[in-house]
This record gives sequence, structure tokens and C-alpha cells, in this order.
Amino acid sequence: MTEPTNTNSDSVYPIYAYHHAPPHLKTRRQLRKRGLRPGGQEPVAELRWYGGLRVAYLYDVHLALPVRPMTPRRERALAEAMRARRTCRACAQDTGKCIPRRYGICWSCVEADKAREDWEFEQQQAPESECAR
Ligand SMILES: [Zn+2]
Repeated sequence: MTEPTNTNSDSVYPIYAYHHAPPHLKTRRQLRKRGLRPGGQEPVAELRWYGGLRVAYLYDVHLALPVRPMTPRRERALAEAMRARRTCRACAQDTGKCIPRRYGICWSCVEADKAREDWEFEQQQAPESECAR
């Protein structure tokens, strides 16, 4: 069962159903597990599953290259990227863990923001007369 299943293909590549791809064709993720990367080669086929809703490109394992070894330069770049992900945009503190992307700020800043918004809201709601006194 390693025949491509191109029927009404909209793809330039042969299409395989899940588990039906020849053993030397691997997805990026499968290559990664073997310590390999596509290495600049074009995909040679497509893997489709969930009725074609999920698509992954397949690469020839014979053309794959070992994952690039970690160099001091790459290590520094990675550490810098991780530090940026841990750093709060608002208070510039390194929180020691990745900050949720939807906030971009640390929890104490989120809380402080909320408190300030509540305070501002209450000020707006307060009757004029009360503020004047
Ligand atoms: Zn913060």
C-alpha cells in the first residue's frame, strides 16, 4: 500500500494517505525525530489525512541532512530569543518563564492594568458632585 492516491489532485506532488507513504519519505517532524532536517530539498510528495484536511510535505530521507549542531553563536541567539519571550513589555522584568503571547506583559502588570482600568472606570462612574468636593 505505498501507491500515491492522487485522484482529483490539486497538488503537483504525489499524495499519500497516512501510513501509506513509502518508508524513505518522511515529514519534517519525522525527520526531526531522527536528528535530520530536509536540508534545502524540495518536498517530493504530500501526506494527507483527515480526509485531506491535514497536509504535510514528505521529504526523501536520503537527501536529508543532520540537524545543524549548536554553535556558540546559535546558542546565544536562542538564549536571547528565549530571554525576550520571558521579558515583560511593560516592566522589562525577566519573569523566568514564557509570557503568554496574548498579553505580552507579566502577570503583575496584567493585574496592575486591570486594577487601573477598574479605578478609571469607577472614576468615570462617580457623580460629578462627589469629585468636586
Ligand atoms: Zn511586568
